[in-house]
Amino acid sequence: MSEQQSKRAIIIGAGMIGASCAHFLQRDGHSVTIVDPNAPGTGASYGNAGLISQSGVMPSAQPGLVKRIPKMLMDPASPLVLRWRYVPRLLPWLIGFLANSRRERVERNCLATMEIFRHVLSAYDALIQETGCGELIRSAVTLKVYETDAAFEGNAFERAMMDRCGCHYQVLSPDDIRDLEPNLAPMFRHGVMMPDSRHIKNPGRLVETVAKSVFDRGGALLQERVERVDMNADGKPVVVTDAGRHETDLVVVAAGARSGKLARQLGAKVVLDAERGYHVMLPTPEKSVGNYVQLAERKFSLSQHESGIRMTALVELASVDAPPDYRRIRSLLPMAQTALPGLSIEEQSIWMGPRPSTPDNVPVIGRSPAHDSVYFAFGHSHLGMTMAPATGRIIADLVAGRDPGLDMAPYTPVRPLL
Ligand SMILES: Cc1cc2nc3c(=O)[nH]c(=O)nc-3n(C[C@H](O)[C@H](O)[C@H](O)COP(=O)(O)OP(=O)(O)OC[C@H]3O[C@@H](n4cnc5c(N)ncnc54)[C@H](O)[C@@H]3O)c2cc1C
Repeated sequence: MSEQQSKRAIIIGAGMIGASCAHFLQRDGHSVTIVDPNAPGTGASYGNAGLISQSGVMPSAQPGLVKRIPKMLMDPASPLVLRWRYVPRLLPWLIGFLANSRRERVERNCLATMEIFRHVLSAYDALIQETGCGELIRSAVTLKVYETDAAFEGNAFERAMMDRCGCHYQVLSPDDIRDLEPNLAPMFRHGVMMPDSRHIKNPGRLVETVAKSVFDRGGALLQERVERVDMNADGKPVVVTDAGRHETDLVVVAAGARSGKLARQLGAKVVLDAERGYHVMLPTPEKSVGNYVQLAERKFSLSQHESGIRMTALVELASVDAPPDYRRIRSLLPMAQTALPGLSIEEQSIWMGPRPSTPDNVPVIGRSPAHDSVYFAFGHSHLGMTMAPATGRIIADLVAGRDPGLDMAPYTPVRPLL
């Protein structure tokens, strides 16, 4: 690449999305700087379940949700939590979220998400090869298990949508489940297994490894909080932080659940908020799970990580900055013990993090409508770890003027949400 084509790029946010964008831009010969007040991989990318899979293409908002909401919100064991105090602030997002629970919207949004998934595994292979992060990623399947016929039948819509989107899955009998996960209690009557999956043993360390590879190759980290992005007289972006002003040639906004304010300041009226999720770390049992296991009725998952079993759960609709409330996830621990006999529920650590979510569950990936030198890469919701390398590769393609290999219209920041 000639010096003229090589650009100075500032990436705002050192999560999995920002680190992946930095990697793929650097690979194209750009000089990259990541700006984040926090260390790489300490936001939502730290505490997630670590699944790389198509399983999250189904959004939280599904047909019938509007009718079910009152009951769900009253149920103390419900996986959906709404903090009433934040409703006025969340209103634009909530209205869009409910509007996107209509069948035709769910189908459109799943198809858009699946389009990105077609690029996920090849982008991961490139990232693994080029950054040496392969030891953190293993082959594993996604297994969703059902205790009752009613719950399995009740999820027929999800399977219909997976068929429609071309997701690969197999329906398992109780014997199949036992063969795959012999340590689970024999209480599951149905399973749905997705083979095209991988599992990250330590998501936070994965981001650190990708970021370190970027820094080892000359990339920089500025531990500063971005306040806004100005344009100078030449039309070049100037990233204004709590510590100074940094002129650059291009900016990528990848600040996770906090990207909305920056995007709006940059001329895109995006609606973005947090679907907050929780995890509890438990000691590795003698007899663990080998794959990512999701309990359909209880809506929590168990997966074996480097330092123990990680139980992940909940969609809590509240402001990104609201304090965590660990009561609900703790109340699920006895059920985890029932599902995996021998599991100690002695809590090693507990965590809450904000999934950056758009109301339609489709990420925002593309150029700012107002500034040619500003790109957006946020809103990956339940699939940020899965889609990060593909997103990084797409952003690098857009910057280079290459065909990213998919129609970018569904991911534009200016799409209608109602
Ligand atoms: C419980 C749970 C389980 C999950 N499980 C999975 C899973 O199994 N598979 C999957 O694919 N996804 C999963 N996800 C979703 C996934 O974790 C997120 O989609 C992904 O981590 C988002 O990455 P990000 O880089 O956009 O955001 P983050 O990791 O949150 O990074 C954003 C960064 O931006 C920085 N930042 C914010 N504001 C500013 C500013 N003004 N200036 C500079 N920097 C700023 C923050 O400090 C942070 O470091 C899960 C999420 C949760 C909560």
